[in-house]
Amino acid sequence: MSTDSEPGGAERGTGPDPAAGGTGIHISGLTKTFKVGRRTVAALDSVDLHTAQGSFLSLLGPSGCGKSTVLRILAGLEAPTSGKTLINGESPAELRTHHELGIAFQDSALLPWRSVESNIKLPLQVAGLKPDAEQIAELVRLVGLEGFEKAKPAQLSGGMRQRVSIARALVVKPTVLLLDEPFGALDDMTRQKLNLELLRIWTEKPATTLMVTHGIAEAVFLSDVVAVMSPRPGRVLELVDIDLPRPRLPEMMRTPEFHALHDYLSELLFGKTGTGGVVTDKAGGSV
Ligand code: ADP
Ligand code: MG
Repeated sequence: MSTDSEPGGAERGTGPDPAAGGTGIHISGLTKTFKVGRRTVAALDSVDLHTAQGSFLSLLGPSGCGKSTVLRILAGLEAPTSGKTLINGESPAELRTHHELGIAFQDSALLPWRSVESNIKLPLQVAGLKPDAEQIAELVRLVGLEGFEKAKPAQLSGGMRQRVSIARALVVKPTVLLLDEPFGALDDMTRQKLNLELLRIWTEKPATTLMVTHGIAEAVFLSDVVAVMSPRPGRVLELVDIDLPRPRLPEMMRTPEFHALHDYLSELLFGKTGTGGVVTDKAGGSV
């Protein structure tokens, strides 16, 4: 289903011409069903999504609507039942082969026996590439973990572990960044701080980014475009352009423009009365 056919979709959700293919994220007719015993679970129902290269897209939707499934298919960790995905003109398999993909999940998924710097190096070692000491030191600085290079994950706070996870995602100098609720398990203050860090890192080198989130404010603050998904089976209800100027500054979160976008997205998710209540599970139903 094309989001442009939705009322209000055409003027708010523009983006590049889907037929053009090319760069950016291109998802066409993406459907995914899972077999669970003898049951079939329809996770995604013909998802269409198109963004420009170097843009920041957030996927916002109720728990269990298939957000992580979209991300896992883009990452080549899951095969679609039908449909097609291309990022910057490449299939998930090609992106992985060319080491263009950086991924971070809600659970930092660090190796507990490895130090901070050794966890950050891991994707390079897995790819058979030689880590460059200066690059690793630069990444440690970038995510604000100087002095903790030799620390083990158990010696770090949750926020610090997520910083390591972000640095690890960036180590291959990815042109594509896939983030699955990277700060979802953190308290609000830490989350806001890490959002600012992520914004700074992304602004320095704008990778084509897809971030899955439950957080409306976070989505508005960071994104160029927010795709709002329906409850399962997930479809894109609407693509909303976030036309706030860049650079984004924290004080923008108090402007009428920011509030208007926040309200608009809330309405799409919860309905006008705010009683829809579809986004309830902060932990998410991710696999
Ligand atoms: P979200 O990230 O939006 O919370 P998911 O993409 O994790 O949602 O899941 C979408 C739906 O697909 C859920 O109903 C979930 O139970 C189901 N699902 C996801 N992965 C699997 C799997 N590997 N096997 C069976 N069902 C799955
Ligand atoms: Mg999820």
